[in-house]
Amino acid sequence: MKSAEANLNFASAYSYLDALNPKQHQAVVYGEGPLLILAGAGTGKTRVLTTRIAHILDKHLCGPLNILAVTFTNKASQEMRERIQNLLGHGVDGMWLGTFHSISVRILRRYADLLGYTSNFTIIDSDDQLRLIKQILKAENIDEKQVPAKMVASIINRWKDKAKTFDRVGDSQDLHVQLYRQYQERLKILNAMDFGDLLLNCLQLFKQSPETLKNYQQQFCYVLVDEYQDTNIAQYLWLRPLADGHKNLCCVGDDDQSIYGWRGAEVENILKFEKDYNNAEVIRLEQNYRSTSHILGTASGLIAHNQDRLGKELWTDKGDGEQVLVKGNWNSEAEARFVIDEVEAMQRQSKPLNSMAILVRASYQTRDFEERCIKTGTPYRVIGGLRFYERQEIKDAIAYLRILVQPDDGLAFERIINVPKRGLGPGAMQNIHHIAREQNISLPRAALIYAMDDSKGSGKSNLRTFFEDLQRWRSMLDNTPHADVVKCVLDESGYTGMWLEEKSPDSAGRLENLKEFVKAIEEFEFLPGFLDHVSLVTDNNNQPNNDCLSMMTLHGAKGLEFDYVFLPGWEENLFPHPRSLQDSGSAGLEEERRLAYVGISRAKVKAVICYALQRRTYQGWQVGMPSRFIKELPTCHVKHIPATNQETQQQEYSRRPVTIADYKSHHLEIGDRVFHQKFGYGDVIDTEHEQATVEFDMTDTKRIHYSFLKKQ
Ligand code: ATP
Ligand code: MG
Repeated sequence: MKSAEANLNFASAYSYLDALNPKQHQAVVYGEGPLLILAGAGTGKTRVLTTRIAHILDKHLCGPLNILAVTFTNKASQEMRERIQNLLGHGVDGMWLGTFHSISVRILRRYADLLGYTSNFTIIDSDDQLRLIKQILKAENIDEKQVPAKMVASIINRWKDKAKTFDRVGDSQDLHVQLYRQYQERLKILNAMDFGDLLLNCLQLFKQSPETLKNYQQQFCYVLVDEYQDTNIAQYLWLRPLADGHKNLCCVGDDDQSIYGWRGAEVENILKFEKDYNNAEVIRLEQNYRSTSHILGTASGLIAHNQDRLGKELWTDKGDGEQVLVKGNWNSEAEARFVIDEVEAMQRQSKPLNSMAILVRASYQTRDFEERCIKTGTPYRVIGGLRFYERQEIKDAIAYLRILVQPDDGLAFERIINVPKRGLGPGAMQNIHHIAREQNISLPRAALIYAMDDSKGSGKSNLRTFFEDLQRWRSMLDNTPHADVVKCVLDESGYTGMWLEEKSPDSAGRLENLKEFVKAIEEFEFLPGFLDHVSLVTDNNNQPNNDCLSMMTLHGAKGLEFDYVFLPGWEENLFPHPRSLQDSGSAGLEEERRLAYVGISRAKVKAVICYALQRRTYQGWQVGMPSRFIKELPTCHVKHIPATNQETQQQEYSRRPVTIADYKSHHLEIGDRVFHQKFGYGDVIDTEHEQATVEFDMTDTKRIHYSFLKKQ
């Protein structure tokens, strides 16, 4: 895709317009006023959006600073930026292109003081959110078994999706409303915002300071939004005033791909666009440029089972291609084996791994495939799943940095106050929390009071030293490269030492992650900028050039495309997801079907759907039934291979001829170049009993069993 877009660059005198069909062309050059592009998957909506931005800039209709372009994920916004740069043949600095959250952060960093925050406010993630709610429940003596923190968090988040602040959610005596109020009060003391607040605080800012809003309205001559079908009420209320200055709002979306109803998305927003803007131009696109006709036919046939949709006919001239394969498997392990065998077979035909993706309904499903990939040495990445920044040691390190930048950040402080151990027992911690509540101050301030108090109490002198250290590290930030400060903090705080001493099998890996972490910081000019980045990243896709098989959830795959797409786990009780059916009945089922539509329509060349008759879950093996969606697929576009029984499958597997790939992975010699999923590339320097000693490029020497190494 990238290279195709690159060919359209402006050097060839507006050839970018030639690469559009008449409807797309109309949308790209459309002048002023509201514009809606409502069209099915793969019809070029994102292409229109990016080309329109390039066109506006090329024609000097305004400068990059006057464009506000919003999308849903960091990955999507990164891809949009690349597409625009390829079209223009140069970078576009200063353009306001990002997710709703990242743009909100940009606004709030500037105007936080108007809302009673300081500009270095912390952005907290769901983990911190839970921690804070647990603290409140404890302080209120509420039993977490009766009122689970997770449930409270989700109620608060849903209110925020609907742009409801605690004073506007109804009965102020209601327990959840009271918890919501307290939660917000604590956040204010912490000088922190959660993701929902980023939007709500912008709304508050616009209300409170019409002047500020007016400035933005004047600044943003063109506002463009991708995936509009998934905006929730808060996002909608955020967009409207910003676009109201010039009313040049261009939204693109597809009602059939609305998959965030459970997070408050209102497909209504797209459907009422024409009512919101009575002079709106609506353009519909019908040619799909992505998929073969069998793939498109399968996706369209499935989504036709939904009642609640506008309905549209898509066509493609990509030829029939292969029928969509539906493969039954004896169990979930056989399913993983089948998929990764297919991946390897394609790899042997020189198909790059980057062109293949496994899209799952529930994130835990990736584990089976990950294990298989590790066994076969197939490089893979999990996008949006096992996030690097979510690992324990990385979160601890980040907490240290957050405290440096924002001394009142109580959640970060709580995370590391006793990590490594500083001799603070549960009594001391209770004491500190008590001081914080009594005096309505942040936890670090309370800890300082506790440490300086002469009365008895555990860990006081360690805590005093810790505060002195913090002060010293903070002052280093002014004159020492921040990556060096970070190394210092990790070493001098005893944090690195703690992992060095710990003899658990994963401590070496954790130390490697910390090294990687310092490397990541080096790429940023300022520490606060890095911390913002960490708060906002939703995926660990920081090595886009490595050839890797991608794994992600169907939700995370929105807007993306791959030549080969594997869709495992199409079973009742998994897909459609039971929770969705329980919570929202037939509307939930329709949303699940839209998710299936998104999945199939990601494929350009080949789509493979799998199900397993038995699946290993945390409760043991469970019997599975093929998903009802499989029956709904139009038979003319699908080839179904039912599951054979276990024995036949095992025989099939053992009868499988030994391939060159097998041979390569099982016989290694000194001097061989190998790849390991975790440690990367290296050279074999010794072999013994099917174990190789490998000198890795990026880390030290390790002894590893042949089966985990892939010969290059
Ligand atoms: P989704 O609904 O999945 O987000 P989309 O409508 O945004 O899809 P795009 O991603 O913009 O679709 O386009 C799908 C593919 O079709 C891309 O590879 C894009 O480059 C290609 N494409 C779009 N329009 C054309 C065109 N006029 N000629 C050739 N290729 C095109
Ligand atoms: Mg798109």
